[in-house]
Amino acid sequence: MKKIKEEIIEVQDYPIKGIGFKDLTPVWKNQVLFNELINEMTETWGGFKIDMVASIESRGFIVGAPIAYKLNAGFIPLRKPNKLPREVYTQHVKLEYGETEIQVHKDAFDGVENVLIVDDLLATGGTAIAAHRLIPKDIVVGFGFMVELSKLNGRKKIEEISDAKIESLVIYD
Ligand code: AMP
Repeated sequence: MKKIKEEIIEVQDYPIKGIGFKDLTPVWKNQVLFNELINEMTETWGGFKIDMVASIESRGFIVGAPIAYKLNAGFIPLRKPNKLPREVYTQHVKLEYGETEIQVHKDAFDGVENVLIVDDLLATGGTAIAAHRLIPKDIVVGFGFMVELSKLNGRKKIEEISDAKIESLVIYD
């Protein structure tokens, strides 16, 4: 875990002034650390029944898909606008450094239970909350993040709308 943190590069004023952007690509590039990262993010959920991982485009997919595979779960992509071919639900997302929308197929969660929401990083919580709004509330079991920027209080905001467990591997104060 310490090694993973050591490999994360903070880039100042990217993509806009005032943001300390956490570049996670050196961790994903490292075969040993990527393996460790996915194993640890998966092990946290060992005691839980998880049938589905829902992950957020695009960096969320990098960790979400291998975690789904390891949990023997399915995978549902929450995508950027105009990527999904059938009817969608849309949620507006306010990020630490901008705004966007995420979408999911209207029938994506039909018959689905026990969903884990996975993203690369928890900052203000806007993305995770938008993801949660796209999913029927009572089937969300947890939130898993590779990195959490605790100063931005995303965890508190998630806790205001959900009782699901929140787990982050690397936490910055
Ligand atoms: P938020 O909605 O504010 O919690 O932001 C989370 C999303 O934005 C994640 O999907 C990250 O990929 C991205 N993000 C926000 N802030 C940062 C940051 N400081 N460094 C890297 N990625 C970030």
